Amino acid sequence: MKSCDETLSPTGGWLASVCVCLLCGFATLGTMVPMPLRAASLSVGGWSLSSEIECGNAGRILQVGENHVAIAPREDAIPVQVQVTGPISSYVVCCEIANESSTARRLTVDVIIPEWMLGGPKGRFDYYLRRPYLLRAPQSVAWTEVAAADQADRPDCVRLTLSFGPHERKVLSTIPSFPFSALQRELEAIARSSGDARMRRIGISEEGREMWSLELGADGKPTLVFAATAQPGEPSAWAILAMARAAAADPELVKLRANYQLVFLPMPNPDGVAHGYANTNPNGKMVFIGFEAAAKKGETFHETRVVWDYLAENPPLALVEFHFLSLPNHKVTGPYVIDPILFTNPERRALSQNLAQALTALSDPRGVRRVAAGHAMWKQLLPYQAIVTWNTVAFLYQNTGPSTSLRQSEQRGIEILKVTLQTIGHAGTDDASAKAARAVRD
Ligand SMILES: [Zn+2]
Repeated sequence: MKSCDETLSPTGGWLASVCVCLLCGFATLGTMVPMPLRAASLSVGGWSLSSEIECGNAGRILQVGENHVAIAPREDAIPVQVQVTGPISSYVVCCEIANESSTARRLTVDVIIPEWMLGGPKGRFDYYLRRPYLLRAPQSVAWTEVAAADQADRPDCVRLTLSFGPHERKVLSTIPSFPFSALQRELEAIARSSGDARMRRIGISEEGREMWSLELGADGKPTLVFAATAQPGEPSAWAILAMARAAAADPELVKLRANYQLVFLPMPNPDGVAHGYANTNPNGKMVFIGFEAAAKKGETFHETRVVWDYLAENPPLALVEFHFLSLPNHKVTGPYVIDPILFTNPERRALSQNLAQALTALSDPRGVRRVAAGHAMWKQLLPYQAIVTWNTVAFLYQNTGPSTSLRQSEQRGIEILKVTLQTIGHAGTDDASAKAARAVRD
């Protein structure tokens, strides 16, 4: 038996030869690094495997032996030097596998771990691929975990042993992606369930996909925004949709939100999701950064501009950007608290400190991170620029850690929504906050 490493070298050598400084490289990554192949497929021995599906990701798929294949991830167009420094997260393998035989069989699948992840000057990054793998039926969005007994860590790969019925097809993935094609249907169902909900097409992605928001409550009231990260490898749509569903139907939340307009942004990078990228859109742009330029009306990434311009129409009183990833090396979940010195409006600063406390109480205190004013990377992010530009009470909530899961992220999303409404709503009863909101907007 060959080891995984002998089977193939995952992505070729082109990434390693490019050196890009983390900060000045943001705007030019897509042009400096060759784009990897978009998909891979293999048909052999009555098995057919393909990453040419929605959310699919594989750089190469090869036969290892009888009923035994190997899959290597396709990397985003981000140089390894940037990948090991940040701000990337996640790593995606997603493939449809079909047993074309009329008998039940088992297939061994080795997921190859790129060599740079196994160790280097910045440490190991193989945890991105060493986590519980997920399966779903092609026509369903319901993921189930591969049984622990069917998944084993090997030095240079993760080995999965999967059972298939006759002519059965399954999608195998490292992350519980939420397909773009299911989003509109889901939003329509939520909108139907509430008398005061409306869907808005806030723009079109570079490849022509709709960018949706769901708005709940009367126009003109102070706005609270709950946005998914634009990192497709962190499928936060699950949490944002759970929040929207709860806000539309849960009587307690309906009462709590009476004085506000809620805005839900479940998928700000639909192209990245559709193509199964981890951190970018298909042009290699990390659209979750670039908000400093957007706020200064400068040139920025397309989807970044759409999100910023939409929010700028009616600057929010509060905003939470939700990130979600199940990672064993991230200890706990919690908010990033940005230096309150950035607020020029003292009422908003006080409100921000109250919400920081409430989000911290909801989380593990060890998960709370402080972000210094002027931080070079953080200045690029939406919550930071929302504070600087609009005095929005803004947080990034990092729902990462070994205990996160799809269900846990949905639940945490609803908890965040509730805590935000309770904290802001309480402060808003004296009208000062609403006045401050109007002052900032005008
Ligand atoms: Zn993230």
